[in-house]
Amino acid sequence: MGDEPHRPYNRTALSKQLLTGEYDVDDLRLPSFTDLDVQWRLGTPAQALDPARRVLTLPGAEQLRYDGLVIATGVEARVLPGTPLHSDRVWMLRTLTDAYGIDRALARASHRVAVVGGGFIGCELAATARRRGLDATIIDVSPTLLTRALGSALGAVVGDVHREAGVTLHLGSAVQSWQPHGQGVRLHLADRETVDADLVVVGIGTVPLVRWLAGSGLDTTDGVLADATCHAVGADDVVVAGDIARWPNLLFDDVPRRVEHWINAIEMGQAAADNLLAGRERAVPFTPVPRFWSEQHDLKIQSVGMPTAAATMAITEGSVAKRSFVATFTDDRKRMLGAVAFNHARQLLRYTPLVGTAVSYEPDVQMLSA
Ligand code: NAP
Repeated sequence: MGDEPHRPYNRTALSKQLLTGEYDVDDLRLPSFTDLDVQWRLGTPAQALDPARRVLTLPGAEQLRYDGLVIATGVEARVLPGTPLHSDRVWMLRTLTDAYGIDRALARASHRVAVVGGGFIGCELAATARRRGLDATIIDVSPTLLTRALGSALGAVVGDVHREAGVTLHLGSAVQSWQPHGQGVRLHLADRETVDADLVVVGIGTVPLVRWLAGSGLDTTDGVLADATCHAVGADDVVVAGDIARWPNLLFDDVPRRVEHWINAIEMGQAAADNLLAGRERAVPFTPVPRFWSEQHDLKIQSVGMPTAAATMAITEGSVAKRSFVATFTDDRKRMLGAVAFNHARQLLRYTPLVGTAVSYEPDVQMLSA
């Protein structure tokens, strides 16, 4: 069951190909190659969980008993206080319905698109707007783009790529107030600058969807706490998967963390289901190498591991000036925590098996602060 009216679909195209017209909604469907023999309960948000009685409460006080439960309710877009979301010129992007709304707003003679937040949504949407021939502006509180995912050194390179593609950047500044302006919106920033836009999309991160678990007894501090095998802590017949799961990936350490990447959601869904069926005694830890990709202008970014947990970075192949390189990230014990490729995808494959292992560099490789 899920709260959206649609069957599951691939979200990765919502900020890219769906808005450039390369894909339509049929391209987003998740194909099933076998008869799943499941009952779909769409538009059905779970409302409460009683793990001791193994009962889910659904709308209309319906009670659903289960033998095993997978929690995969994900995250929702974080709301920036004061954002006039009632306006058809102001959107957040999380669902297919949001993407349709943005597409309609883009088509309605929008020339100037502003995105608040310079993370994945902001960067990809600005690139999409440029592909549609529109002016694009990114506003972010951090001095660099994609800082959480890549660190500030690579985030600065991403900023250069956007500037070269004609995107205006307002970095290190926040939106202070919103004002209707002509057909669009005027944003007043903390540094006293103003940005006029026909369409504003806010992408300032996410909040785990745990409200429905209030009173369940599960630990819902920043997602649902799970152990290394994806079992919810305190409930043997409940597993957790995807953006909402906070679990220790023993490949790195025993600190529970959430990972908001598409590939992780798929792999964790499989691992969680296997471990639910195996039972806690026979379950095995889920220890993936986290991976993501992003496409912005002519730049294809691929990442493996946890680069931002590292202390130092080294460019081990290619050239930053040519926007084609691999950067590797190591901790203070020279253990490789991750690697990132800019337009260097094939070479990155070699680094994936090295994540979590000790590495040594050629003497001429310069180590930089990550
Ligand atoms: P995000 O990647 O976490 O980026 C949010 C950005 O907004 C950060 O740079 C953050 O800066 C900034 N920010 C926070 N508060 C702000 C404020 N008040 N004003 C201006 N900027 C502010 O989140 P997102 O871009 O909203 O993406 C949402 C989710 O979609 C994530 O789970 C993401 O992984 C997923 N997604 C992934 C992809 C991909 O993997 N290619 C593509 C699209 C979406 P600080 O870091 O300084 O807080």
